[in-house]
Amino acid sequence: MKFTEQHELIRKLARDFAEKELTSEILDKVEEMGEFPQEILDKMAKAGFFGIKIPREFDGAGADTVSYVIVMEEIARVSAVASIYVSSPNSLSGGPLLLSGTEQQIDKYLKPVVKGEKMLAFALTEPGAGSDAGGVATTAVEDGDYYVLNGRKTFITMAPLADFAVVYAKTDVSKGSRGISAFIVDMKQEGVSCGKPEHKMGLIGCATSDIILENVRVHKSNILGELNKGFTNAMKTLDVGRIGVAAQSIGVAQAALDEAIKYAKERKQFGRCIGDFQAISFMIADMATKLKAAKHLVYDAAYLKDTNQNASMAASMAKYYAAETCNEICAKSLQIHGGYGYIKDYKIERLYRDCRVFTIYEGTSQVQQMVIAGQLLKK
Ligand SMILES: Cc1cc2nc3c(=O)[nH]c(=O)nc-3n(C[C@H](O)[C@H](O)[C@H](O)COP(=O)(O)OP(=O)(O)OC[C@H]3O[C@@H](n4cnc5c(N)ncnc54)[C@H](O)[C@@H]3O)c2cc1C
Repeated sequence: MKFTEQHELIRKLARDFAEKELTSEILDKVEEMGEFPQEILDKMAKAGFFGIKIPREFDGAGADTVSYVIVMEEIARVSAVASIYVSSPNSLSGGPLLLSGTEQQIDKYLKPVVKGEKMLAFALTEPGAGSDAGGVATTAVEDGDYYVLNGRKTFITMAPLADFAVVYAKTDVSKGSRGISAFIVDMKQEGVSCGKPEHKMGLIGCATSDIILENVRVHKSNILGELNKGFTNAMKTLDVGRIGVAAQSIGVAQAALDEAIKYAKERKQFGRCIGDFQAISFMIADMATKLKAAKHLVYDAAYLKDTNQNASMAASMAKYYAAETCNEICAKSLQIHGGYGYIKDYKIERLYRDCRVFTIYEGTSQVQQMVIAGQLLKK
């Protein structure tokens, strides 16, 4: 696809920001402390990244999906964990509100998130309901003007940091996925607690934990969208969300490729640069070719979305291919680094760990294959 002048400007802004603000000293500290510095988050909010594709009337920058992909790609190229803070308000946590929020809900919950004043989590997954998200067991039982929520959500990004969460719960257990509703839950409310922050393999600096709901009373004004239509809201959110993970994947893959090229030119064995060996140079050629193909898929999905075409299958293809390719590129880049790639002093070590979850969250690669095949084989 052809980028406009505005897209190029956004790329420059995001790249300059990432290179200037996300220094290796800061990123090392993030890994060491397990926390992301608030002052960088404030700067990201000020740069408009948290609302890059949120409409202007909701305090966002009003840019298109392609611009969002550009920002995600450029931020993830330097720090995958930083890119999660961008994707969350624009996609996974802001998405449900954009799709179904009332004016009051948007004012109260989305606008502060776009400005970086509050954090919002998206809570769908449960211990017994991962890929089969329709099988959630959390219940919401009507009680006057309230619903009473009970259950446990798992692996929720930002849960320990969040002010609010969009929680999906069964309001009609007899109806399966057609009996799920979405609720906006205040994380400070009585009955809400978080599990211990998970010790993750990568993406350190953005806490993930369970959310436990024990007799949590949520006022009916905090139902998001129509009753029993929550599953549609979640699936539509994930549809777009997948483009974000795909964008993250091409950013990290670019970083891994850059590291491989740099190292192959520097490292000498048998009296020559290792890049002179065909085995290494062909690996690099493969990595670059597959990355280019992944980029085309990701930007194509974003373009379809921006031009109001059906982007569902394209988003799944982009997420599936970009995430798998990113993992392959990071593994090959680490191989090119030899033993040094296994040592934390080298950037590839973190890239390799960070990217592992891309084929898992927001729908595993197998789930993407199910979506793609399901559309192709539709009767
Ligand atoms: C770091 C991290 C952050 C996350 N953030 C969030 C979040 O913010 N909000 C949220 O709601 N969730 C979040 N998740 C959860 C994530 O979306 C799930 O982990 C994911 O959907 C997979 O579910 P599962 O882990 O239960 O695996 P399972 O569904 O149990 O899958 C296990 C394996 O079986 C395969 N499989 C399952 N069903 C089929 C099938 N029908 N055909 C073929 N293969 C199949 C899967 O592909 C996988 O390989 C996060 C997870 C992680 C690790």
